[in-house]
This record gives sequence, C-alpha cells and structure tokens, in this order.
Amino acid sequence: MKEQRELQEIVEEIELLVRYAVSEEDYDTAKELLEQYRANRVALQVLREYYSSLPEAREEALSRIVHIHMRQGIFLLGVSTGTHEYIFFAGEDEAECLGEYLEDDGDPEILAYFGYADKKSFLQRHPAMAVFKDFSETWKINKTLCPVCSVAIGEYHHLGCSVEICPWCQGQLSRCNCRFDQMQQEEIESDEDLKRFEELLQQKGRIAFQEGQGPFYPVAGNDGLVLSKK
Ligand SMILES: [Zn+2]
Ligand SMILES: [Zn+2]
Repeated sequence: MKEQRELQEIVEEIELLVRYAVSEEDYDTAKELLEQYRANRVALQVLREYYSSLPEAREEALSRIVHIHMRQGIFLLGVSTGTHEYIFFAGEDEAECLGEYLEDDGDPEILAYFGYADKKSFLQRHPAMAVFKDFSETWKINKTLCPVCSVAIGEYHHLGCSVEICPWCQGQLSRCNCRFDQMQQEEIESDEDLKRFEELLQQKGRIAFQEGQGPFYPVAGNDGLVLSKK
C-alpha cells in the first residue's frame, strides 16, 4: 500500500499549494480537477509543478489536462486555465513546464524526444490545444498496457522491450550484462542463441508486465536487446 500513501501525500501537498496560489474565485475549479486526477500519478506531478511555480501575477486554477503525446511512459501534456494554455512534459516522478502553448519556444531537446524538429513544426501539426482528448480518457487505456511494447498486464514483454526487468539483477533486461554472463559468451550471434537465452530466462522466472511498470529513464530509444557485451 506504499504507492497509495504516496499518492495521498502528493494530493495533500497540492491542496496546500492551491490554497496559497489560487484566487478565491478559482478555488473550486482547482479542487475539481484535483479530484478528477487524484489517482493519476503523472497528472499529479503536473498539478504539483504548476501550483508550486505559478506564472507571476496569475492566480488561475487549472481546469483541464489534455494528452498530446506519449513516448515510453513519458507524456507531453497540455494544461489550460480557461485563459492560458501551457505545455508540460511529465513522468511518474516529475513534471516540467515547457512554457505557454502558443507563445514559448519550449525545450528543443524534449520536443525532439517526441519527434518535433522545433516548436514551430509542433504548432504546425497541432495549431490548437482544445482538440486533444482529456488525459483522464487516454490514461485509462494507456496504463493497462506496457508503454513500450504494448503487452497487457501479466503478459511477457516482447524480447528486447526496454521496460522488461531482468530477473537476475533487477535492472533493465535489454541493457544489463546478465545474458552474456548466463550464457557464458560475449555475444548473442544467432536465433539459436536468442532461443537459448529465452529458455534461461523462463527457467529463472521471467518478470511479466505489471501495472505501473515504466521505462527506465532516461532511455536512448527502444533499440531492442543489445547483442554484444559492454
Ligand atoms: Zn514491454
Ligand atoms: Zn541483469
């Protein structure tokens, strides 16, 4: 139950921030959105970040969070107050504001991570934030599938998925050195090698996808299994 207690702690922290940050007339709106997302860890990170560093002189409550993009468990989200719109990038442990939806240049590195050359090309593809779906809707679908290889809860990942946990070292299976140690060779060279590795994996006790398992971050793309020893 550790996870739930942590969520509750974040919610309480946001409630406190809202009390100080938001004008009285916006208070109910802020509470309503918080209520809607109180079990969504990623959205809570966005709310916490927004209310702890509100743009100067704006005491506005957030009224909506929309889903723009997801890549390997990291989200690009839009948030709006009714009069202002911002872009956030968020995972389960942190969120960061990339500035106003239409106004600011954003962080080029993060935009590139989601496949946009720059903010201009982002806006060419998404001129208006209002058309995106509510994050609460897309979250329901996403959180029950592996964010990288899309298997369901309880299923084994596709071999090479960057989310899969190594049963030997509890690290990232596609990147650790355990397969070479287990197979006592420096390289995986053939389909037979791969098959043998999968068998060793099953014998050891392969770790299936579970809800809440995210990618190891930062990740350099999902390039599959690394085939030679580091
Ligand atoms: Zn997976
Ligand atoms: Zn390992």
